[in-house]
Order: sequence, then structure tokens, then C-alpha cells
Amino acid sequence: MGLGEMATLTQTLSDETIELLADEFERKIEIVSVAEEEEAEPEVAADEAELAERPPVVTIMGHVDHGKTSLLDAIRETEVAAGEAGGITQHIGAYQVNRDGKLITFLDTPGHQAFTAMRARGAKVTDIAIIVVAADDGVKPQTQEAVDHAKAAGVPVLVAVNKVDKEGADPTRTRTEMTNIGLQPVEWGGETEYVDVSAKTKTGLDDLLETINVMAEVEELRANPNADASGVVIESKLDPGRGPVVTLLVQRGTLKVGDAVVSGSHWGKVRALHDHTGAKLKKAVPGQPAEVLGFDGVPEAGEPFRAVENDRRARQLATERAQRLKSESLARRSGRKVSLEDVFRRAQEEDAQELNLVLKGDVAGSVEAVEDQIAKLPQSEVHANVLHRGVGGINESDVMLAAASDAIIIGFNVRPVGEARQLAEREGVEIRTYSVIYHALDELRAAMQGLLAPEEVEHQVGEVEVRQTFRASRIGTIAGSYVRDGRVRRGDPVRLVRDGTVVHEGRIGTLRRFNEDAREVAAGYECGITLENYQDVKEGDVLEVYETRQVERELS
Ligand code: GDP
Repeated sequence: MGLGEMATLTQTLSDETIELLADEFERKIEIVSVAEEEEAEPEVAADEAELAERPPVVTIMGHVDHGKTSLLDAIRETEVAAGEAGGITQHIGAYQVNRDGKLITFLDTPGHQAFTAMRARGAKVTDIAIIVVAADDGVKPQTQEAVDHAKAAGVPVLVAVNKVDKEGADPTRTRTEMTNIGLQPVEWGGETEYVDVSAKTKTGLDDLLETINVMAEVEELRANPNADASGVVIESKLDPGRGPVVTLLVQRGTLKVGDAVVSGSHWGKVRALHDHTGAKLKKAVPGQPAEVLGFDGVPEAGEPFRAVENDRRARQLATERAQRLKSESLARRSGRKVSLEDVFRRAQEEDAQELNLVLKGDVAGSVEAVEDQIAKLPQSEVHANVLHRGVGGINESDVMLAAASDAIIIGFNVRPVGEARQLAEREGVEIRTYSVIYHALDELRAAMQGLLAPEEVEHQVGEVEVRQTFRASRIGTIAGSYVRDGRVRRGDPVRLVRDGTVVHEGRIGTLRRFNEDAREVAAGYECGITLENYQDVKEGDVLEVYETRQVERELS
């Protein structure tokens, strides 16, 4: 209080105040951020003797409508058919089936978005990824995405060729297409296991489960069941009748009824544990998912959890974390942001640096050309690694992949679509967009050699939405517009973006408000805009107004 801070006994102090006080009392302190504290979780003594085999955790990914959900349902039913589970199955986010006396855990929220979102939270959950590809449809954009997401995570892949019952199904052609994207079947001398299945007629499921078991054996998945439980939140919801319902996947130790648990800024005392059939459990062991009642709130999916010695400790940890999160207003990954500017500097500090990239373009040709050229850049200091390439606007899945893998996104004539830009800001992902391929290559080369010179960088100053268009005989097309963000000025350079793709670059011609010429229009206002030498503006187009600035780059 002498320092002017009116703090009560239970209040958390600012870092500076803590340091001052520590000085005063001649005590040594160390300030640990929330992220570090979580990493510093007491690692369970890796006593070889205590390690026991645990079930593999499997995620299903693939293109929409290729049968991910159907396959998950069909696999779940193998258990019911075997007469081993009673009750009504319910979706709790994960389930287990038994195959030849060995358990397999399936995460039943399919898709690479969910998978990568978890990974971006820092959670490593999946041991094996099943890529589902429909034999009548073949490799599709999200098949490629799913494969790239699994590879970026370093998770072994198994391909389930689905819908083999259908007329027009061609499992061999599917294998050829998958080989072309880097997954050569074992039977063709490659390394990837393939299984033909039909979720509809339920054929091939045995084979699929068996193959998973074989792959799991190779992975030698083990954990210590005799420790305090820890793992990851798979799903959570607020149930009107039961309160917070949280599905936890135990990764180490054993979770028991009565345990005190903490996850992020939430804590609880485990009141009840259930499996996906609704059956009561006394405990959950490594690899086992369980629905937990007793949390004081709903922690986020992907958040780690652990059991601690008692309720008091759990509550204290949760409260401390909540307060620190608030006071640091910690953007989750703010500390881990990767930008092209600091690639070389980090290479100098930590040597052998990987530069992970996600490439998106308006046409396949330009993306391929860039990928080829990137491979030819000098890779002695920094090794460039393309995690994913694709055609079309930069989407949320691209951003999450970049967030999870510390990658930079490079776009050619494409822009973020949907919520991708906001997501990138939240996750600290750098998106660099170019209209000329060798500008991108020059910058990459320069960054990789530490030569990134001061130069002009673009800075978006406004975003305008075209709501209506009018034609005036003398003036041309007038875009009746709304300034969504920032501002727009007469003569500003501008890009016209349609469905995430840049279709025109030029300048703002005239700017009018209520039939009066205006020099500038700010966010929240409507205005009429014409573009210099361009008439093909359409309703729904977005105008990106930008300016270029000289930026000095720090080089060490
Ligand atoms: P998801 O979007 O990948 O989860 O795909 P769904 O599981 O929802 O399946 C999409 C459609 O394909 C549905 O109409 C399913 O009935 C159908 N389907 C899924 N698996 C099979 C299969 O093995 N054979 C046939 N004929 N249809 C299937």
C-alpha cells in the first residue's frame, strides 16, 4: 500500500510491484508466464518399469461428404454388434472400441480443422490419422488439406478408401491419385497403409481396425498409469440440467472420481465419470476419454488439464491463471509469432532454422511455379518447407495450420476469406500477399539470407464493401459502397477483391457523399465510388484501400 497499490490479501499484484517488493525484502523471484508455467508441468517420472501400453488415439479426416461421419458411426456400431456395449451411444467427442482385446480411441469430431485447432492450442492428441477418400470421387481439395495437416503434425497416416460398394467406385484410381499427392500404398512399394471400406455395407471395418492396431504397435504408445492424471480437454459444453460437461482425454496417469482437476482458468472436483455409452466409470486410464461432471465452467477444447493434490490447490491455480490471463491480456500465442523479418535473425540465434510456408494462389500454375522456385532458393541458413499449397482464398483452415506449425502464409492474387483475417490476428499468423511471383521469391530469398532490405511495405488503410452499382453515362460505373473499416481517400491505390481473389488493381477515381465530392470517407459511412479506368465493379466486391510505407528492417 505504501507503493500506492491498494491490494487486498487475495489479490494478484502486477509484475513490477512484485519485483519492487521482492527487492525491498531482498528475495529472489522469477516471473513465469502462464504458457511457461503450463510447459513446466511436472513431467511424470519416466520410470521405464511403470510405463504401460496405451490405446492409440485416432482422428478421421477427409473431404466433405466422403463419409467421415458414416465411418465413425459404422465403427462405433461394430462394438454394439459385438454385443459388448449396452446403452444408447451419445456424442461426447470420443469413443473407444475393442478389437482383439485391444482398445482403440476415436475422436468423433471429424475433420482437419478440429485437429489443427487443437494442435494450435498446443495439444498433441492424435496418434494416427485416417484419411477418408471416396472411391467414386477421388482426391479433392480437402483431401489434400487433410493430408497436409496430418503431415505437418508428423502424425502417421492410414488411407481408408470408402464407398467401394458404389457403382463407379474405382479404388485403384483412388490409389493412383493419392500416390500423386505423396501417399504411395504399401502394396505398391510405398509406406502408406490402405484399406478399402464401405461405411454403408460395413465391409472392411475389421481390416481397418486391425491395420490401426498394427500401426499402433509400431508406434509403441506407452504411458504411466500410476501418476496423477493429465491430458487434454476434447470437448465441453454447458448442459442446462447437469452444468458444465467436459470430455477429457487422459494421456498420463489415472483420473478418478473425487480427483481435483484444473484446466486453464477452470477447476473442478470430479463428481462423476461416464463413457460414450453413458455407463458410469470409476476411473479413466491413459488413452481413455471420459465425460466429467464437476467443473466450475467450460474449459476450451485443446486446453490441457491435470489432477492436483486437492480442491484448494486446483481452485488456487485456476484463479491465479484467470487473473494473470486478464492482466496480461495475453493473446494466446503472442509470444510465438513468426514473421518473415525475423526468420534470418532466429537462424543466427538458434541455427538451422525451418521456415514453414502455406502457399495459396488464384491459379494452380502460379502456386506450382512458386513451389518449384522455393526449392531452388539457397537453403543453407534457413530451410524453406512448404506445408500446404492450394488454389483459392486464404481460409481459416490455412490460418490454423500456420498457427499450429509456426508458418507464414503467402498468397498470390488471393486474400483472406471469411473470418481468416481476424483469426490470423488473434493467432499471430503473418499473411503476406503478392501480385507478382518474383516479388515473393525475392523477399523469401532475402529473408532466408538475412538480406531483407528496407523497402516499401503495404499497409491496408481501409476496407470498403460494394453494396450496389449504378451506371451513369458520363461517369461510368458508380459503386454504392459502405466503408467497413478504416477510411478511403480520392486517388488512393486500391485492390478489387471478388470471392477472395484480386480481380483488379488501380486507384480510387471519384468519391462522393450525398452528391458532393468528398476527399475522404471514414468507416461507418456510405459513399459513391468510381475507379480509375475500370468499370466492371459488381455488388459484393470488396475494395482494399492501401498505402505503401518505407520500413527499416532490423538486421543483426
Ligand atoms: P462426411 O461429410 O465426410 O462426414 O460424410 P458423411 O458421413 O456425412 O457421408 C456423406 C454421404 O455419403 C451420406 O449420404 C452417406 O450416406 C454417404 N456414404 C458414406 N459412406 C458411404 C459408403 O460407404 N457407401 C455409400 N454408398 N455411401 C456412403
